[in-house]
Order: sequence, then structure tokens, then C-alpha cells
Amino acid sequence: MAIKAILDSIVIVGGGTAGWLTAANLAKSLNCDKNDAIKITLIESPNIPTIGVGEGTWPTMRKTLAKIGIDESEFIKQCGASFKQATKFVNWKSNPLNGENNHYYHLFSSIYDPTDFNLSPYWKLGYAGDESLTYANAVSPQALCCELGLAPKQITTKAYDGLQSYAYHLDAGKFSEMLKKHCTENLNVHFIADDVIDVCLDETGSISGVNTQNSGLIEGDFFVDCTGFSSLLLGKALNIGFKSVADTLLTDYAVTVQVPYDDPNADISSCTISTAQEAGWIWDIGLANRRGIGHVYSSKFMSHEDAERILLEYAGPQAKGLMTRKIKMEVGYREKFWHKNCVAIGLSAAFVEPLEASAIFLIEAASNMLAEQFPRQRVGMEHAERKFNESFKFRWDKTIDFIKLHYVLSKRDDPFWRANKDETTIPDSLKAQLAHWSVQPVSNYDFANVYEPFPLESYQFVLNGMGFEQNLEPSRALFPMVDKATMSFDKVKKITEFAVKDLPTNRALLNKVHQHG
Ligand code: FAD
Repeated sequence: MAIKAILDSIVIVGGGTAGWLTAANLAKSLNCDKNDAIKITLIESPNIPTIGVGEGTWPTMRKTLAKIGIDESEFIKQCGASFKQATKFVNWKSNPLNGENNHYYHLFSSIYDPTDFNLSPYWKLGYAGDESLTYANAVSPQALCCELGLAPKQITTKAYDGLQSYAYHLDAGKFSEMLKKHCTENLNVHFIADDVIDVCLDETGSISGVNTQNSGLIEGDFFVDCTGFSSLLLGKALNIGFKSVADTLLTDYAVTVQVPYDDPNADISSCTISTAQEAGWIWDIGLANRRGIGHVYSSKFMSHEDAERILLEYAGPQAKGLMTRKIKMEVGYREKFWHKNCVAIGLSAAFVEPLEASAIFLIEAASNMLAEQFPRQRVGMEHAERKFNESFKFRWDKTIDFIKLHYVLSKRDDPFWRANKDETTIPDSLKAQLAHWSVQPVSNYDFANVYEPFPLESYQFVLNGMGFEQNLEPSRALFPMVDKATMSFDKVKKITEFAVKDLPTNRALLNKVHQHG
């Protein structure tokens, strides 16, 4: 087949969260719902299941859903979704002392934009008043709202909006189903249920088509690999290597269980709860009709049997007799994410342990960048490829550093946690940042790259929450705006009092959405 100068057909292989989100994002950005200038085809195997996990999202999901034209109430109803305001990290700081747990919150944002006025050093220097006031409580009402099981907004608040930032917990299987229906019914995405059995390359080494079990050869100008861990196109056919980061992030398995509520009106937590364990941690995500719970662990430090036992003990009597599922995790990323006329998005491109629920966010980011930079003409495609690869290498490296940060700051002393603090496992980039931050507040100067996945605020919540030792005393004079800081902390207190009185519980808000939405 002759190489075309204009690219007008895109083939996406794989229909999990990555495949369908990418299809929706591309179809919307390239106006496929309005004209046929570009044809998008998605091929999904009816035999290979999706990974079926991936329930925690970031606030960017609100914008993504609005962009692709999905109504918030419909999304909540169809995906068993709930509102997420934060991650609560339990026993990460240290082993529980005398049976007493410790915790802190990583919120999505604070009331004040820290790039405008950075309250963190003032909190650190004791200007927030009450010494027992945590950083999260000093800068936002949301940690307390989470403690009280409150929602981030009122039923009357405009869809996708709210005073307090929020994301969602969702049922991954239902989410893919909803996206598939939306893409095929409203966005003009062509769907083929079939197995790709072979990938064909042209004389330039680009992909010219994929052979399927029952539908023959499907040709295309551009291919998106969303085949999950198998990375059928980018990894296998184009032979792009995988860079493992298993020597930095030490967990390699997850065992999961889905636990129904014992009461249909049971409280639903409005944060992901992450509880540190002897050789890893457990996530606990409250959806509308069940909890999704998973134990992420290192098989070098814990047997699979013990990992499952600890998961079921944590899940409680409701989990008795339920099926668990063990998932092997290979952490790392492809040496390139875009090669010739193929981009990998989702697990086919990269995976790190789900501590900060970054994977779906990075799927949104990758599909946005591809959609906005789609090389309609072949001229200039190499430059688009280079930009995409640089950007995503940066994003994944930063994500790895940020996840590792949680382990490095912990004072837990089980062998797994000690191994995590071994110097040889810590990236140099993270070591350099920590040395800098031990005497300087984290500031916008540390986040000059527009592709930074975790903003300044995320670092403040984790560093301050984990009790990072930062000596700002010799620099006290550099923070003279004490009155402004005190007023700001007082304002947060007032907003918190108001929020706590005013907001419904997460369950009450969800019930209202289901009844009236
Ligand atoms: P999959 O879901 O594996 O989909 C692959 C698709 O490719 C399937 O449709 C399959 O049928 C198709 N396919 C494969 N081979 C072929 C073939 N030959 N022919 C045709 N089709 C084929 N992310 C978050 O953001 N938040 C979280 O809280 C979170 N938790 C996680 C917990 C765990 C334990 C794990 C492992 C991951 C978690 N993730 C999380 C990551 C998240 O699950 C994934 O990033 C997301 O689901 C995207 O998966 P995917 O679509 O790339 O792959």
C-alpha cells in the first residue's frame, strides 16, 4: 500500500479504560461526531478480559467527561461512582504505636493557591495557631469533611462544579461499558469485536494493518495500542523495550476483593483509604453499592497466602467466602511511547503501582495530547513523536519519584519498609529534591515544567503529612507576611465550620443523584 500524506483513519486496538477513553477523546477533538473526514475504528477482543481494576481517579476526570459529552449524573448512575476528595494515608508515617493508628490526608488542592501565597512555611513555623492542627486541616476544610464522611458539594451545585475540588471512584467494568456505548452511539466510533492475531508492517517499519481472527485485515494510517500489559503493537510488533523500575518500586503483586455493603444505606467514604501493611498497603474504595479493596505487596517480603489473609482480615466479616483475585504487576515504562505511526496508551505504555491512582490520569493526559497534536499530515510527525516521548518520559519519571517519596519518608521499620529506604533504591532526582527541601519550602520554582503530573500542593500535603524534617528556623525572617498568613488560616477555619454544617454526607448526595439526578 502506498504511504499516504494525509492521515484519515485511526485504528485503536483494545477496549479497556485506555481504549475507550482514547477513542472518545480523539473522536471529540477530531470532530468525528460531526463529519467523516477521519474514521476511528476500535477493535476489542471478546475473549481477553480487561484488567477490571482502576477505580480511583483525579479531578481532571470532571473536565474529561464534560469534554466528551457525558452528563455527570448519568455517569454516576451508570458507573456505580462516588465522590472522591482525597487519599487518606493510614499508618504510613510509622507503625501504629500501642495499637493506635496515625494518618494524614493528601487532598487535591487547598483553599489558597500556593503559587500565589505559599502558606506551608508559615504553618511549619507555627503561625497556624494550634500546634496540633495538621497541615491539611490548616489549609482546607476537606480533610475534616472526609473524616465526617461528607460530600464535596451540594446536590444544587452545578454538575462537574464545586467549591472543593473532587474526583470520582468508579466501577472500571461499568465505566468501559458506558464509554463504549457513548463512543459507538454518539461519537461515530466504529467497533469491531474480534481478536487481533497479527500486526503487519510496511517497508518503512510502520504499521499498515492488523489481521483479525474473523474480520480479516483492518488497515489504517495511525494505530493506538491499548492492549493492556500485552502491548501487542508497540511492545511486540514494533519491538520497543520495557524499562523496569522494580528496583525502585518494590511491590509486584496485588490481591483484590469486591465487598458488598451490609446495609444499602451504609456510609461511603469520600476518600480513598490507603493503609500501610507489613510488606505493602491496602486500598479501600467506597463505590455506590460495594467497596473495592486491594492489597498491594512485595512477594519478596510476603507470601501470597499471607497477603490474601491480611486482605480478608482487613475487609471484615462481609468478605467471608468472597472470591479474591491475584494480579501480577510489572512496573516500568516503554522506552518510547510513540514510534512511527503507533502510540501506546494505558498499561501497554507503562504501569506503576496504584498508590496515587495516576494511571487513568496519565491515560487522559496521553489521549488529550495525541488528540490535540494529531498528525493529520505525515509531514512533521517525527517532531510530534519526539515531543510526546519527551513529555511522557518526564511524566512517568516524576510519578515514580512521587510514589517513592511516600516510602522514603516513612518511619516504619518492617524489612520491606527498610528495603525501600535503601539508598540504592532511591532515584538521584528524588534524593536531590529532598536535600533541597530539608532547608527550603517546596515552591513553584521546583515545578517549572508544564508536564509536572503532581502539583506543588501534592508535595506539600505528603511532605507535611508524613512529618518530613524541614528546618526553616534559620530562614524565619524570609517569611515576614505573618498577618496575611494568620488571616488566611482564620479564613480556612471559618470555611471549615460552614462546610461541616452545610454539606450532606457522601451517601446522602449519591442517593439524591440516583433519585433525581
Ligand atoms: P486493559 O484493561 O487490560 O484492556 C486491554 C484491552 O485490550 C482489553 O479490551 C482486551 O480485550 C484488549 N486486547 C488485548 N489483546 C487483544 C487482542 N489481541 N485483540 C484485540 N483486543 C485485545 N489506575 C488508576 O488510575 N486508579 C487506580 O485506582 C488504579 N488501580 C489499579 C490497581 C491495580 C492492581 C492495577 C493492576 C491497576 C490499577 N490502575 C489504576 C491502572 C488501571 O487499571 C489501568 O491503567 C486502566 O484500567 C487501563 O487499562 P488498559 O485499558 O490499558 O488495559
